[in-house]
Amino acid sequence: MKAFVIGNVALDETLSIEDFPRPGASIFGAALSRDLGGKGANQAIVMARTGLECRFAAAVGRDGRGQEIARRLEAEALEARLIEIAGTATDFSIILMAEQGENAVITTREAAAAMTPEMARGALDGAQAGDPLVMQGNLGAETTRAALAAGRARGMRTVLNPSPLQSYFADLWPLVDCAFVNEGEAKALGGVEAILAAGVTDVVLTLGAQGAALIRLGGRIEVTAEPCTVLDTTGAGDCFMAVALASAALRGSGLDARALGHAARAAAYTVARAGTVSAFPDRATMASLLST
Ligand code: ATP
Repeated sequence: MKAFVIGNVALDETLSIEDFPRPGASIFGAALSRDLGGKGANQAIVMARTGLECRFAAAVGRDGRGQEIARRLEAEALEARLIEIAGTATDFSIILMAEQGENAVITTREAAAAMTPEMARGALDGAQAGDPLVMQGNLGAETTRAALAAGRARGMRTVLNPSPLQSYFADLWPLVDCAFVNEGEAKALGGVEAILAAGVTDVVLTLGAQGAALIRLGGRIEVTAEPCTVLDTTGAGDCFMAVALASAALRGSGLDARALGHAARAAAYTVARAGTVSAFPDRATMASLLST
C-alpha cells in the first residue's frame, strides 16, 4: 500500500515578538526557526516517518525557496514530486509568536493555487485500489475536485482534511470516504452529521486537549488526549491525521481505536515540542510509538 498526498508545501519563518504590531508600527522580532511547512508537506512527512510508502505532490516556483524545499524534502523517506511552475513564487508562511503565547500566521498560496487539475491527476500515476489519497484545503476547488474524482475512479480511499476552510468543501463530500475535522471546522461545515449525511463514511473529529472521536453512522470510538506539557500546538492536527491513517494502512485495517491511540500519542509528542516538521516524531520515535 502506498499513500498519495497532494497538497501545498511552504517554508515557515517563525519570529518571536513582544506583542503584535499596531498598524503603522515597526517592531523588533527575533528569528526562532526556519522550517518546512504547509499542511500537505506536514502530513506527507509524518506518514513517511511511520514507514508507510508515500508520494507527495506539490507546486513550487522556480526560485530559491523552491530549491530549499527540494533539499529539505530529500532528508525525508518519501517520493517528493515538486511541480515547478514558472512565473510563480514558492509559498511561505510568517509565523509571529507573541510573548503572551498567542500566535498569528500569514501564508501565501500562489504556488498551491497554480496547481492545475491535470497536474494533480498526473500525480496519481501508479496508484492502486485501496491506496489512500490525502488532500487538504490549500489547492483550488477544481484541482481538488479533479484529484478526488481521479482517486475515486482508481478505487483509492479518499481522505479530506477541510482546512483551511473553503466555501467549496460541501460539494466535495460525495467524493470523500474519510474526513478529519477539528471542532471549528465541523461547526462551520454544518456539523458531523451533515458530513456523514453527504456520503462520508468515517469522520474523525479532533478536540484538542479533549482528544478525538471516530464517528460513523451507527458508531463512535473515542480516544483521550495523551497528557503532556504543551509548548506549541502547530501541526498537531496534521500529525494526528497522518499517524491515524498510516497506523491503519500499515496494519491493513480501517481506522480503529488502535489507530486513534497511536495518533494521540504522536500528536502529544508534537505539541510538547516547538516547531512543526522539527517537532514531529522522527522515524525511531515513530517506530516505538507504533509498536504499542
Ligand atoms: P492544529 O491546527 O493546531 O494543527 P487542529 O485544530 O487541527 O490542530 P486539534 O484538535 O487541536 O487539531 O488537535 C489534534 C490532536 O492533537 C488532538 O485530537 C489531540 O490528540 C492532540 N492534541 C492537541 N492539543 C493537545 C493538548 N493540549 N494535549 C495533548 N494532546 C493534544
